[in-house]
Amino acid sequence: MNTSESGFGALGLRSEILEAVNGLGYEEPTAIQREAIVPLLAGRDVLGQAATGTGKTAAFALPLLQRVAHVSGDDRAIRALVLVPTRELAMQVAQAIHKYGRVLGTSVLPIFGGQSYTQQLRALRRGVDVVVATPGRALDHLQRGTLALDRVSFLVLDEADEMLDMGFADELEAILQALPEERQTALFSATMAPRIKTIAKKHLRDPLYVTIASEAPAAGKAPRVREVVYVVQRAHKAAALGRVIDVESPSSAIVFCRTRTEVDELTETLAARGYAAEAIHGGLSQEQRDRVLRRFREGTSEILVATDVAARGLDIEHLSHVFNFDVPSSPDAYVHRIGRTGRAGREGVAITLAEPREQRLLHNIEHHTKRKVRIENIPTVHDLRERRIERTRASLEAALTDGGLERYRGMIETLASEYDVYDVAAAAVKLLDARDGDAERDEAEIPAVSLAPARALKAGTAKGPRTKPSERLSAADAEKLYIGLGRGAGIRPGDLVGAIANEAGIPSREIGAIEITDRFSLVEVPAAKIDAIIRAMKNTAIRGKKAQVRRDRGR
Ligand code: AMP
Repeated sequence: MNTSESGFGALGLRSEILEAVNGLGYEEPTAIQREAIVPLLAGRDVLGQAATGTGKTAAFALPLLQRVAHVSGDDRAIRALVLVPTRELAMQVAQAIHKYGRVLGTSVLPIFGGQSYTQQLRALRRGVDVVVATPGRALDHLQRGTLALDRVSFLVLDEADEMLDMGFADELEAILQALPEERQTALFSATMAPRIKTIAKKHLRDPLYVTIASEAPAAGKAPRVREVVYVVQRAHKAAALGRVIDVESPSSAIVFCRTRTEVDELTETLAARGYAAEAIHGGLSQEQRDRVLRRFREGTSEILVATDVAARGLDIEHLSHVFNFDVPSSPDAYVHRIGRTGRAGREGVAITLAEPREQRLLHNIEHHTKRKVRIENIPTVHDLRERRIERTRASLEAALTDGGLERYRGMIETLASEYDVYDVAAAAVKLLDARDGDAERDEAEIPAVSLAPARALKAGTAKGPRTKPSERLSAADAEKLYIGLGRGAGIRPGDLVGAIANEAGIPSREIGAIEITDRFSLVEVPAAKIDAIIRAMKNTAIRGKKAQVRRDRGR
């Protein structure tokens, strides 16, 4: 599927931007994007209520890019300003705008406190089209006369409630005074506290209020679904999913991802770890799609990894499990996804992996479904063993009650004349256990993370410092391996697992979290074996390229 068939094509974005979005594997706009992009393209001010994870960055970044598309030549000036509460967000948003706007040649500069002024000044003097800044540092530059905002025609206040919570009200006011009156403004906030409305009233012109509309669930329609959330850092998500799949041992499951790219990558990671997983997304031909579905129905594959779009038309009777690899971008999407399990009076399980920063989205979902989601710790290696023993015991009991054991009794009697009968039984269980597909697949501990303590949820009552999610590293027995090849070299998780497994003889189940960036990859391996792995991989080529392999220095 390409963007012209999907909902993006209908929004009025230019083809270069559509291509960028398509290239990132987005199959359709999220709710906030559907609501905000058209009015923003038309030049309207927008007041948007949306939290992190809803896709709000693209909701303002795509129209911003189109409205201020780089003017070549000498007439270079800052055309758009995005104000954000934190340096992390400044970097993230700048990266996103860069990603979406690369083809247009739009230049973006993040500016935040703690960064050297000289570097910022040099970049500003060279000239940029878009600045993404924290209010404090932006005002600093403004007062020093090093930030010219007189040509800004597009302003975004992102996470405005956070900016106010962090005490940036005065800075915001001062910056707003320095901007041309003739401009377009978009304000995004997770809450619509009175203070936000005051700002909107004063600085936005006849804004269109957009929020993620959601139908209330029909009464009595709640599915019988056990809903669980695990909080886990991005880098550990694939390993965490593997662990949860092992513990749950689903008979048929869908794993939902946001983008096509994510679907492909996750499918490869799962397959490399020995799961019968297949990808399904809008990039497949009808024939490929049919083949994947047939294998799933026949039970050849047990796990479908899918985007929302691809899953929508799927005619699949019942799923034992739905996994959300990300928190869905809207409560409606969540309800749709989990509605695929627990059908026809059967029990279902819906498991969501959330990153610490996606807490707000979880609250939205709880608010919408009027149910509390249970937040649990990722199962430990110990839990996994317990579950396995439990399952083996259950299978044995079933076999005992099913009967039909006569043909095996003779063999046991012969063995029992030579060995202790308990040992014979134990040996049989051991074999059974070893044959169990998921046996001992992933033994590295996954760091437990907790959500930031819930901030006051009621509009306007959130005060005080931002709390960073605490992180407790449990096991020190994994270490990160740096491999100097990344996405840019076409590296996929399967390549890394394959190379390490083949060259160093490390079973893939001992390989932990894998993180692939544009330029390099980080792979968690057993600390005790890292030196041997580095030695073994000295002269290895991955995807035909020699790679630098060493301990990750970030540790
Ligand atoms: P945000 O809410 O802007 O922080 O975005 C959350 C995540 O969703 C980011 O990783 C985006 O890359 C991703 N994303 C944004 N829009 C879409 C879309 N239409 N389809 C799939 N993923 C998206």
